[in-house]
Amino acid sequence: MKKEMTAVTFKDIATYEIGKRAVPEITRLDEVRVAVEAASICGTDVHLLNDPPGFIGTKGIVLGHECVGTVESVGEGVSGLKAGDRVVLEPNVACGYCHYCKTGVPNMCENDVILGVTADGVFAEYFVAPEKALTKIPQDLPADIAVFAEPVNCVMGAVNKIRLLPGETVLVLGAGPIGLYFVMLLKSNGAGKVIVSEPSEYRAKYALECGADVVINPIKEDLSQKVKELTQGLGADVTVDAVGVLSPDAIACTRRAGKIVLFGQNGAVTEKICQNDITRNGLTVYGNYIGLYSMTPTVKMLSSDLLPLEKIITHRLPLEDFGKGLEAMRKGEALEVVLYPQK
Ligand SMILES: [Zn+2]
Ligand SMILES: [Zn+2]
Repeated sequence: MKKEMTAVTFKDIATYEIGKRAVPEITRLDEVRVAVEAASICGTDVHLLNDPPGFIGTKGIVLGHECVGTVESVGEGVSGLKAGDRVVLEPNVACGYCHYCKTGVPNMCENDVILGVTADGVFAEYFVAPEKALTKIPQDLPADIAVFAEPVNCVMGAVNKIRLLPGETVLVLGAGPIGLYFVMLLKSNGAGKVIVSEPSEYRAKYALECGADVVINPIKEDLSQKVKELTQGLGADVTVDAVGVLSPDAIACTRRAGKIVLFGQNGAVTEKICQNDITRNGLTVYGNYIGLYSMTPTVKMLSSDLLPLEKIITHRLPLEDFGKGLEAMRKGEALEVVLYPQK
């Protein structure tokens, strides 16, 4: 086993470094060391490296939390995984003993450690994680599909809350990767019409390829009026904010007694809303943060080839080219950027 590896480290606000670090050691009985096959850059990584940051990270950690890898070695207490197994990661590691962990909602854990945000992540040749954070995947599941497990798991958490009825009309605000996962998942889950709101023509094209029926440009058109025209004057049955700042649009475009899912995250922005619109229209608003016991169903879904996920990989890069991928994402010229640390 070599001693050093290449990794992308979070140095300070808006600063990262690509360089050599020691290969992490297994120090606890329940830990597993994983060789990273593929890792993708998430919007969270971009927010984390913005100034001001939209997401707060711990200085000095290895970045990255979306990946697929192969188990290289395991601690003495690991019973469900062995060297050679292929795994995906849930980067939010819950404590197991706080109020939320003990009441069945570990995604709300008060003491969670987040790999790639508050602890060393996966933009490296190797990472170490506790066994409970890893889920085994089929040996033949392509890395370019399995790499989506983490973000799709988070979207599955939200889809599980919506309880969509077959034929319902869904409005997805924003066609970045998260918006596109919603389009694909809700379409395969029985949505009738999927309407997308997206100002970028580049992203609009991908939304249509992923199954959207209509894409509205909210800068050129009146979004709520257009949505009403497409829904017999009612509004969408379900609206998803995949961006994190669009709750006013969601409230304006959802029918009475409809559902809104707030999914995108941006801690740097505060939006003004008219609370009475929610009250008077009897709206149900769901906040969703990551997945909840949904990784195993997610792996099953990815293995069944239901979603055209590979279509949205726009960049395949060696780890050293992290900066290129980040810039492309910042400029809106990329959707999924996948890095291959072993190449
Ligand atoms: Zn992510
Ligand atoms: Zn906890």
